[in-house]
Amino acid sequence: MRIDSTAEKNYQTALSAIKKTLEVEVKKFPLFVVEKSELPELKPELKGKPYILNYVRGFYNHKEDSIFVVSGYEEDLQTILHETLHSNSCLHSNNSPYWIHEGLTEALTEYILKKENLSYDVNLLISEEVKFWRKMLQSRKIEIVRAYFNPNPEKCYSTLEKATGIFGLKNKDFRKI
Ligand SMILES: [Zn+2]
Repeated sequence: MRIDSTAEKNYQTALSAIKKTLEVEVKKFPLFVVEKSELPELKPELKGKPYILNYVRGFYNHKEDSIFVVSGYEEDLQTILHETLHSNSCLHSNNSPYWIHEGLTEALTEYILKKENLSYDVNLLISEEVKFWRKMLQSRKIEIVRAYFNPNPEKCYSTLEKATGIFGLKNKDFRKI
């Protein structure tokens, strides 16, 4: 695990891009570059899942309040920006379904990078979820952004429910929307 100047530089770019495009205040957390071999230790839930481990480029650890970027992706602004968003959101894997915390984070990543004329690679694994949130962002961006960055998960959900018009969001199955 190490601190890396290239990753730091991209982290600064990510923080500025989020502030500028969404007009929100964002917090900065420690960011470490880790080797692939360190991943099973850092993400025990992925032990024995090499097919997922191979895809991991970065992640945010909620308990340690730190961002981790996998070695080789120090220049990958998209990954760093995506993880920077996670680190500032109330929505995490422990309090929201995948289609909400991942789908919305990826839709915001796309929104910010495109707005800044930076390159964005489509993530095919969650394209349907992103499509849903992309459409929501077109009509209800202000409320959704406010919800996403609200430190209080309860308030975050009530705002998000009003914005989407979907109640009981926390336990909603994406296939039933
Ligand atoms: Zn993510």
